[in-house]
Amino acid sequence: MKRAIVSGAAGFVGSHMCDRLLAEGIAVLALDNLLTGVERNIEHLRGHPDFEFRLQDVTLPFEVDSPADFVIHMASPASPRDYLMYPIETLDVGSLGTRQMLELAQRKSAKFLLTSTSETYGDPSVHPQVETYWGNVNPVGPRSCYDESKRFAEALTMAYHRHRGVRTSIARIFNTYGPRMKLNDGRVVPAFMDQALKGEPITIFGDGSQTRSFCYVSDMVDGLYRLLLSSEEYPVNLGNPREMTIGEFAAAILELTGSHGGVVHHDLPEDDPKQRRPDITKARRVLAWSPVVTLEEGMRRTVEYFRAVQPRGDADVPAEASV
Ligand code: NAD
Ligand code: UDP
Repeated sequence: MKRAIVSGAAGFVGSHMCDRLLAEGIAVLALDNLLTGVERNIEHLRGHPDFEFRLQDVTLPFEVDSPADFVIHMASPASPRDYLMYPIETLDVGSLGTRQMLELAQRKSAKFLLTSTSETYGDPSVHPQVETYWGNVNPVGPRSCYDESKRFAEALTMAYHRHRGVRTSIARIFNTYGPRMKLNDGRVVPAFMDQALKGEPITIFGDGSQTRSFCYVSDMVDGLYRLLLSSEEYPVNLGNPREMTIGEFAAAILELTGSHGGVVHHDLPEDDPKQRRPDITKARRVLAWSPVVTLEEGMRRTVEYFRAVQPRGDADVPAEASV
């Protein structure tokens, strides 16, 4: 049986990745320090014979006795609210954490996968973003703790590939949403859904003309899994190319939830990217991958999840809701 070591496994995307690996017959050692993730996300896997959870900060040295075929480094705060709250931890996990995970991959002769981000493009001047674009990142702005941490992680991954012979792949993930996002993590999908379900005004930052492209989590995990099995060593964009303005997205949420709360405008955060849409030509070509879940269907599934968790706050998710 093949074995994977997954950091950030108790997070939103990481927990879905664990589900997919187990479904593919791959045993999982899940590592997480629960900085921004919650054990609830992997509770349904407890007792699974091929799943083990270890509370581990991956910025610190650690050893794994068993062999491994795959090392998947997903640990990192990912929502702007989280990484602004934990800037030093974010820089550490992208640098020291990536180093520990790469060393582990080298010791185990395992394939290494890094989950990088569209934030490596910063506030992009090339649109849509293609992997060969080098980006437009403010190295000293508030978001730099995340952007530069991921850019460093990519550079370190390439160095281990070139100089240590580690087999590596890099995913540049664009905005992903779905069940198990935290209601209060500040990202636009849970924030808007939470507000709409409570009948409160939706908080649009700025005039709402900035754009994003939203990918449903099962599509994302399918792309990550294909990349894990591929021999592509240069970054690959993974995301849904359907782009919309945040104003349009707010209107869609109001309609979906039947909320009459309306919208309210707040200041746009510093360095908030004005436009974002992945060019996924490369993923289509090298992974034969493209998203299949429509925004309407993905949002319907996500609202269902949030409806189930919201009355109890963020603390107690019924099993049937933890899709
Ligand atoms: P998340 O916050 O839900 O999950 C991240 C997990 O990493 C959490 O469980 C957290 O506790 C863990 N973690 C953080 N520091 C750690 C450390 N030092 N040691 C061990 N565990 C640690 O975020 P997510 O949305 O699931 O993101 C997962 C990955 O995907 C991240 O690397 C993120 O940068 C990347 N990504 C996500 C998105 C998205 O839209 N969700 C977009 C781009 C990139
Ligand atoms: N946003 C918003 N209201 C909110 C939360 C976010 O208008 O309550 C905007 C934010 O300014 C950004 C977009 O929605 O332009 C996506 O934000 P998110 O935090 O989800 O992720 P980002 O893509 O910025 O990393």
